[in-house]
Amino acid sequence: MTASFHGVRGSTPCHGPEIVRYGGNTSCVAVQVPGADPILLDLGTGLRYFGAQQPTGVPFRGTCLLSHLHWDHIQGLPFFAPLLTDGAHVTIHAPAQGDGSSVERVFADTIKPPLFPIDLALLPGSLSFEEVGDSEFVIDAGDAGDVRVMSRIIPHVGETVGYRIEWNGASLAYLSDHQQPCDGSLVATAGALDLCRDVDLLIHDAQYTPAEFAAKCDWGHCTAEFAVWLASEAGAKQLAMFHHDPAHDDDMVDALVAEAQVAGAACGVDVFGAAEGMSVAVGD
Ligand SMILES: [Zn+2]
Ligand SMILES: [Zn+2]
Repeated sequence: MTASFHGVRGSTPCHGPEIVRYGGNTSCVAVQVPGADPILLDLGTGLRYFGAQQPTGVPFRGTCLLSHLHWDHIQGLPFFAPLLTDGAHVTIHAPAQGDGSSVERVFADTIKPPLFPIDLALLPGSLSFEEVGDSEFVIDAGDAGDVRVMSRIIPHVGETVGYRIEWNGASLAYLSDHQQPCDGSLVATAGALDLCRDVDLLIHDAQYTPAEFAAKCDWGHCTAEFAVWLASEAGAKQLAMFHHDPAHDDDMVDALVAEAQVAGAACGVDVFGAAEGMSVAVGD
């Protein structure tokens, strides 16, 4: 399977010549199992670009594994052009909300006038919702066989899950927004470790420098050092640094990646910085 990065930025979209190499769109990764419908990791503004690449004339079918409901992870949905075709359908798995409100209701209340020109339900394509927590389920990939998915509740701000995807011996984990302990210690929940255990590719929050983390220690994110530590602790082979801070230009991300690569090399983790337009093979 492959993972293609369409949006790698955290918090808010950004633009400018200083960020063209990594890109300014927010979280969206497309996982493709050969012969199967796409699996989308989050619906940030990068989703619009993924949508523009889809074939026209045949209704889109796919699954989204949504980490949480923050804007930077859902804002691409109303601009996902395949939903303008009758018969298109996306099944969205998303974390159950602690206050009991349905995820479907949250989307319906967010994508409607006056916040958006029309009600979400008026788009020709359709959505269905599955609420998850510490869950395991299977995505039927037809002749390609089953794709096994694990979700685990992870620390962030508000209900958030990470995902692990396994298919045909290859594995990938996605923890886009992950709160490191506020004292800066290198400790993770059992669930986070379960997601990342021995994966071929870990896509992980790497938003802050140590100084930024110290100033924003309860904003729901972590340092690149924490991402490398978690990858190493869990036995992940490759780490994609993800959810780049909107205030970090390309040179700054390069510097963070270079530092993390040195740390990764010392513990057997191959590290790279996720960039828009990048596609990587997962597993052998
Ligand atoms: Zn985010
Ligand atoms: Zn978030």
